[in-house]
Formats: sequence, structure tokens, C-alpha cells
Amino acid sequence: MKLLEDRIRKDGKIRNGGAVLKVGSFLNHQIDVKLYNEIGKEFFRLFGDEGVTKILTIEASGIGIACITGQYFDVPVIFAKKSKTKNIDGDVCTAKVESFTHGTVYTIMVEKEFLQPGDRVLLIDDFLANGAALNGLIQIVREAGAAVVGAGICVEKAFQPGGEIIRGQGVRVESLARIKSMSEEDGVVFC
Ligand code: 5GP
Repeated sequence: MKLLEDRIRKDGKIRNGGAVLKVGSFLNHQIDVKLYNEIGKEFFRLFGDEGVTKILTIEASGIGIACITGQYFDVPVIFAKKSKTKNIDGDVCTAKVESFTHGTVYTIMVEKEFLQPGDRVLLIDDFLANGAALNGLIQIVREAGAAVVGAGICVEKAFQPGGEIIRGQGVRVESLARIKSMSEEDGVVFC
């Protein structure tokens, strides 16, 4: 998606010796809602014929993108929680996820009542790096007996193994910007 690639070139900041792309000025801290809207429209163009009944993302950065996308699909949006709060009182589906940005392992959960066998679930997230977050979401959908229609990702760091791992499981992954390489000297190179 040219719009997103151009924005990454203009406002993205490369950190940690080329390992991390900061997009906090438009994607996951300060939010450009018009850009989110174009992203949601594009995910609908890609997955609109798949009979999607639910959208699932992971807190926190995925929620805004998933909500805007959900308006195009006209389906409920669920986000996997990273901690068990008093608000969760029903049975839950869980998965363990290793955080790329924090380097810790945490459990994500979704109340069982929100994902039913027969649901066709589109996964949405801002980044795909090692695939741990997406893998956790896939496990949760499968534990619920629902079907994964595919994953809509804003930025895939294609030099990390996540995309290959998830596609290798037979899951359709559509990434709007795929980064082949990046470095502080040369900037971002897209696939
Ligand atoms: P994975 O689980 O695929 O290794 O990483 C995906 C998650 O890590 C995303 O939900 C995203 O929040 C975060 N992430 C991974 N790489 C980056 C990055 O380069 N920049 C930012 N801002 N977040 C990242």
C-alpha cells in the first residue's frame, strides 16, 4: 500500500541498530485516523469476500486499526487481553506470547463466549516480526473451534521469520507494507 510505505519513509524512525521501526507519530501512539481509514478499507478489499464474522486483535496497538476495519466489515471486534482483570469472569481461551518489544512472556486471553465454533475470524495487528503475537491469536481462535480466515498486518518486517512461519501454517497473511531491510544509514527498503 503506497500510502503507508510513503508515510513510513517520511515519518518512520529506525532504532536499535535497524531492529525496530518507530511509527509512533502516525500508527501506534499518535494516530492518523485518515490513514487508519484507508488501512481498514484496504483490509476490506482484501478479505471482504471471506465471510468474516469477527475481527480479533491484541491490545493495545491493534485495537484502533481493528475498530476502523470492523466498521467496513460491520462485524464485532474483539481484542485479546494481556492481563486477567476483574472484568473477566467467564471461561477463557489463552495462549502464551513472547513480546518482541519487551522481551518478556505473557499470557493473552479472550473470553470463550465471544468466539464460537462457526465464527470466521480475521486477525489484525500493526506489526508482524517473529510471529509470536499472531501465533498466539491463531491458537486462541483454534481453541475456540473457530476458523482463521487470515491476517491483515500493517507492517511486516520480512527480514524476521514471522511471515514465513505463519504462512507455513497455511494461514493467509496480507501485509500492507513489507520491509525487506532497514538500517539507520540506508533507511527502509520495501520488498
Ligand atoms: P511478533 O510477535 O511478530 O514478534 O511482534 C509483533 C508485535 O511486536 C506487534 O504487536 C508490535 O506491537 C510489536 N513490534 C514488533 N516489531 C516492532 C517494530 O519494529 N516496531 C514497533 N513499533 N512494534 C513492533
